[in-house]
Amino acid sequence: MMTEVIITTDRTMMTNHHGKEFIGFMTTAPPIFMPEWLWMKISAPKMKVNEKGEPWQAPYGLRKIEAALLDAGIDAAVIDPDHLGKHIDEAKVIAIGHHDYFALGPPSSEWWVLTGKEPVNSKSFRKLMERPEIRRAKKNGAKIIVGGPAAWQWLYMPELIDKWGVDTVIDGEGEKVTVEIVKKALSGEELPKFIQVGAEDVPSLHQIPLIKKASVNGLVEISRGCPRRCRFCSVTLRPLRHYTLEMIERELEVNKRAGVEGCILHSDDVLLYGSDSVYPRPEPIIKLHELARKYFKSVGWSHFSLSAVKYAEENYKLMSRLSEMLLEDDDYVGVEVGIETGSPDLAEKIMPAKALPYSAREWPSVVIDAFSIMHELRIVPAATLITGIPEEKLEDVTKSLELVDELKPYRSLIVPMYFVPMGLLRDKNWYRAQPTQEQMDLMKACLRHDLFWIDDLARWYLRKANPLLRLSIRIFISLVKRAASRYLFI
Ligand code: SF4
Repeated sequence: MMTEVIITTDRTMMTNHHGKEFIGFMTTAPPIFMPEWLWMKISAPKMKVNEKGEPWQAPYGLRKIEAALLDAGIDAAVIDPDHLGKHIDEAKVIAIGHHDYFALGPPSSEWWVLTGKEPVNSKSFRKLMERPEIRRAKKNGAKIIVGGPAAWQWLYMPELIDKWGVDTVIDGEGEKVTVEIVKKALSGEELPKFIQVGAEDVPSLHQIPLIKKASVNGLVEISRGCPRRCRFCSVTLRPLRHYTLEMIERELEVNKRAGVEGCILHSDDVLLYGSDSVYPRPEPIIKLHELARKYFKSVGWSHFSLSAVKYAEENYKLMSRLSEMLLEDDDYVGVEVGIETGSPDLAEKIMPAKALPYSAREWPSVVIDAFSIMHELRIVPAATLITGIPEEKLEDVTKSLELVDELKPYRSLIVPMYFVPMGLLRDKNWYRAQPTQEQMDLMKACLRHDLFWIDDLARWYLRKANPLLRLSIRIFISLVKRAASRYLFI
């Protein structure tokens, strides 16, 4: 039963959040109004595993690394953190991935600043690294390799690299590079401490491995990269690649065979599938959705850009067609979108191409039009709004506040992302950095918006959830409402 290369992560990642992707947001916050064990039970329940300790679903990024290693003939498997003991004496490499190892990224860092309490994701990750099994493996000479979208955070934690014996940090698209490093580790060669994956090491389309076992909530990637090049976003450094429909179908089949009940089409902008510019193309998008529907009744999306929503509907009625294809009469479907700012000035500076094919100065009206289109079609945007970025001025925050007010009639959630200045992160008390009054006002305005829509959304989102989960979240929502009115005057 031994596995030479174990791929794992902590509980806040190794979970399917009861099949409700959005509940995963709770893992980025500290427990509020309930004990930590209950918070974890609601947001990060354990999943069933096989006799080897392999979870039946695993984060997509870990499945990609697993597939790359298996394709290279290396004995590797994703193992649930509670089952590491079964393999640890034989393991030669432990590969670990995470979205937010130390809660330094938004929205975790924002919760930390606002509450002064450490979010559960970084606590849970620390517990993983201090587990006796990991310590034992290290003593036995196993190498620890870490990567994933939060790999950059290790640069701020050099003492933990030493304390926990991390051998290599891989930052960037890791499929090709991880195989090389794991081969080196298995043959006892010296490993580099830090690797920044350069353009020449990024896998080309046909080098991207296809997952072999089920991903969390049926997520399958359809494209990588984004042509908009916003200044604060690392996605932009990756070349744009669209999977072929055959590649996507093979991953859909893997999830279907494993018994996953739906799929989430993942890309930095699903509406640009099959396009090599900022103009959505209806034909590939319709074919993609027909394919997904062939396998799953429930089809969701990860991200849309708001300008693509407006353009696709106004030119091709494409959003209406997608809504007809996917939604029953009283249903909604959610998707993440980025507003980031309500200020045309700031939009011009930090994301000049985000509004394309419209101009950056039109950005607030693009956002409103897209929200209005989605509201009519029962597509629910969960939008991010950034504050705290170095270029931001007081007037920019005011413009964002005005935009949040204008979005009130549209069914949506708006999540403010408070950017802690990178320079501060080296200080271990970084989370004491306080937002300005205007930034606090903006965060309150978002909370007010969300509380306005929350009952409508919770009714839909939780309608098929188990009764205990439904009850816990309802109680939680009423406590948040009460606290918001008592302490924040919302
Ligand atoms: S549109 Fe989104 S994914 Fe693309 S560069 Fe901007 S923030 Fe990144």
